[in-house]
Amino acid sequence: MGDKEERVEEFQLEKEAELRFEVEAGSTVQLELVNGKAEVFGSELASGRKYTFNAGSKVAVFSWHGAQIKLSGRTEVAYISMETPMVVYLNAHVALEQMRQKSEKEETRGPRILIVGPSDVGKSTLCTLLLNYASRMGRAPMMVDLDVGQGQVSIPGTMGAYVVERPSDIEEGFTLSAPLVFHFGHTSPSKNLTLYNLLVSRMADVINMKCDSFKKVNHSGVIVNTGGWVRGSGYDSLKHAAGSFEVDVIAVMDQERLYTELKRDMPDFVKIILLPKSGGVVERNQTARSDARDAKVREYFYGSKNTLFPHTFEVKVADIKIYKIGAPNLPDSCLPLGMKPQDNKTKLVPLTPSTSLLHHVFSVSCADSTDDNVVETNIVGFIVFTEFNQDKQSFTVLSPSPHPLPKNILLQTDMQFMDIQ
Ligand code: ADP
Repeated sequence: MGDKEERVEEFQLEKEAELRFEVEAGSTVQLELVNGKAEVFGSELASGRKYTFNAGSKVAVFSWHGAQIKLSGRTEVAYISMETPMVVYLNAHVALEQMRQKSEKEETRGPRILIVGPSDVGKSTLCTLLLNYASRMGRAPMMVDLDVGQGQVSIPGTMGAYVVERPSDIEEGFTLSAPLVFHFGHTSPSKNLTLYNLLVSRMADVINMKCDSFKKVNHSGVIVNTGGWVRGSGYDSLKHAAGSFEVDVIAVMDQERLYTELKRDMPDFVKIILLPKSGGVVERNQTARSDARDAKVREYFYGSKNTLFPHTFEVKVADIKIYKIGAPNLPDSCLPLGMKPQDNKTKLVPLTPSTSLLHHVFSVSCADSTDDNVVETNIVGFIVFTEFNQDKQSFTVLSPSPHPLPKNILLQTDMQFMDIQ
């Protein structure tokens, strides 16, 4: 078969079967539902429509009652599995739905669930599934993503939240209208746990306010996703997240030890459940993870289908304020009187404009001045400095929106972006 030749394969899915496939590098795959009913991570396929998946996508098409599926293009693997945890996941959704109904009757807060477990066990996928099932029933749950390694709401190095009012688009994911995003700056909570925990608490406060003012969201509840760091201080930060969001349920994926620890450490009113991992979840190595992070940043500037174009313009150094958050720890004896070592970790540190700032991604803070609590203020977007002009004291920036910058306080992240077409 020639390399360019299109491969077309048809699959017959029995009841409760799943077709799993990965798209080959440099290729795309089109999926079509020929017959029956099927869903991709909880979002229903429309019959006869062609869905396109990009290189590297790992997809599962599940059918509750049977379906016929056509795949065109080059897949790395494509196989049907009858062994899925979907019934268990559906039961988790049903339990949450019962809690929602109860919360409506009793005028109380809806269910809040924290999803925890090591990396690559399908945590994000389970969130998508639960959100899709909830929105298909007319709910509007709040999704909170604390996984700064993947940064699904915006880019890695951030945590974010949004309300889900309709099922995810199979190709593009959820429609994010006005997501709430906070700048953390690093891709692992371990880089600055003090800041991480502070932002988790802040996020929980903002979500509580949102729930107080939107009844539907309040009853629909909150789904909180976390990163894969579950030992030592990572475990402590999970407990901190559970406490901050006052969760009712913690779903532990694929790790009995973590389940036992949480059962031991959490108050009795928090229900801890252990959920199996799907055999379809694909493990990613360090390179795949780092590529996925870079792809997220690229997508921010160029769109998932490479159809957006960022603007390039100059900004004067005098018109912007550039910081990073957190200074290195000083020995206690060197700290000013009354200052705790943690304070250093959440301090704004001014950065000198120079070529060393080039190609770093900077968050644009919503804060108007440093009199505001910049560290705990959400962000509006990101820019990258592509050139520094020493004589003119100006930077060339790459920005999704045209000149001028929407705000002038910029926060450095560890993420880098080289604008190579
Ligand atoms: P985690 O959030 O625990 O790191 P993810 O939910 O991101 O894990 O899953 C890792 C990858 O596995 C994702 O690319 C996802 O699309 C894929 N995946 C999840 N479930 C399945 C499945 N049942 N079949 C095929 N691929 C899957």
